[in-house]
Amino acid sequence: MPKKTKPNGFLLFMMDYRKREERKGRSFRGGIQEVQNDPQCNQEWQSMSVDKKAEYNRRAKDCKKGGAGKKTGTGESMDAVEREKMRKVEFAQNMNDEIESIVAMAMEFGNLPLIKFNFIHSNWFHTRSLENNEFDYIPAEFAVSEFSLKDGVTKIYHQILKTEIRCGYTREAMETSQETHQLPWNLQCGEDRFEVMAENLKEFLKPGMDGNKYPALYTSRQISPAVKALIKRLTHSLNVPNETFIVYELEVLFKYLRNAAMQKAGVVDSFHTVMAEYELIKDAFSFTPGLDCDFHKNLDGTSQFCSMSIVKRWAFTICDYCCENLGVEMLHGVHLPLKIHSDQSNMSDTMSVLSEKINVMQIQDTIGIKSMTGVSKEYRTRVSERTDAEEQKRRNDKRTVTVVKYGDLANSPPAEPEPEPAPVTVPPPKEYQIPLRRPHSISHAHIAGKQKEDEHTYNESEFPSLGVSVGRGNGARRKDNEPRPGAGRGRGIALS
Ligand SMILES: [Zn+2]
Repeated sequence: MPKKTKPNGFLLFMMDYRKREERKGRSFRGGIQEVQNDPQCNQEWQSMSVDKKAEYNRRAKDCKKGGAGKKTGTGESMDAVEREKMRKVEFAQNMNDEIESIVAMAMEFGNLPLIKFNFIHSNWFHTRSLENNEFDYIPAEFAVSEFSLKDGVTKIYHQILKTEIRCGYTREAMETSQETHQLPWNLQCGEDRFEVMAENLKEFLKPGMDGNKYPALYTSRQISPAVKALIKRLTHSLNVPNETFIVYELEVLFKYLRNAAMQKAGVVDSFHTVMAEYELIKDAFSFTPGLDCDFHKNLDGTSQFCSMSIVKRWAFTICDYCCENLGVEMLHGVHLPLKIHSDQSNMSDTMSVLSEKINVMQIQDTIGIKSMTGVSKEYRTRVSERTDAEEQKRRNDKRTVTVVKYGDLANSPPAEPEPEPAPVTVPPPKEYQIPLRRPHSISHAHIAGKQKEDEHTYNESEFPSLGVSVGRGNGARRKDNEPRPGAGRGRGIALS
């Protein structure tokens, strides 16, 4: 009897590896022994991240205990699901406690407005379901900002990514992009090296480090799974544990900051996480111009989806609820959006500057970027008969914009009514000036063709009058076999 192999992490990995390779068309006739001798399999196990290896070892432990036998309706191990549930509860409790203590401590020392927090937002191209009933998000853009109540957003790390879309996901990626951020996945300026991005993020967060621990990154509940998927990619690229960059809920931070502010102002009411969530979804500053990244600045109607704009708007929302009660003066451009001057006298100047800018506007790095009309420049130049120089000339042939001041028109005396112009009769075209042909007459063309034959008149035999005709049927047959009058064929009723 062959000795039964005890499950270990590597054995489970080999089984997964075999399944994956067999789906690609390979076969392992030598069984698990052949998989074990496969150099590619060994290399993959050696270069596997610490987290992934630990996951395989944990699964192996479960198998040894026999706990893996119990499965949920979706085929997951009951123990694993329970453990994950407990882990989430524990994580939420730790997060609450930590944020509460940071805010309480800062209030104690009176320096809450100076405390720095980091916000993160990520856009994605498409999602992909994983084997453990979770979703992976393929990142498109992300932005991390450093924020304090006193100085607002002080610095930002923004990154646009490029990626290869897996077969079968192109449609979803196109739809997500078109409906939201409009980023193409093959943008030349995009970055695809996660290790570079992870190093940049480490550098960005370095000043806020507590010992060897990086400061927490706050994000809204809605996009938390996308941010966590991005963080996973970044940590895997450095082969460090996922917990290197910890992701907390922005709603919880907002709640404690608002409650602290209200407490300082002597308000007894309390602000709940649900209210914070609602305020962030409401996004009162969603149409604030000038907050987006360089790419989204050039694409009309996309600024509200830009990651850079979103992290700045979160800061405005939090300042709006907290600064005043904490005695922080609200400054435009720091705690509030910049003021937009809408002076009437400057209107025409603004319009001319604007039209000038539109005329000379050129989107940098246009390869593959779709314009507002959905057609890329590359495609247009290939298909259109108009050359670049002609297009530029057409834009430069500006038309002046006339500004009508309706306010002034309302105050001016009513204008004299203009006399009604005399009706103008336009003669019909020549071909319609010939009188129409009378009824029962023969056309001119017909006469010409027939060498002007005598005019034919119809008689009674050709068109008999009504009232003498007989219908079809046996009852109307005549006795003397006389022929029927030529009344035409029909199924009329005899009237006589
Ligand atoms: Zn952007």
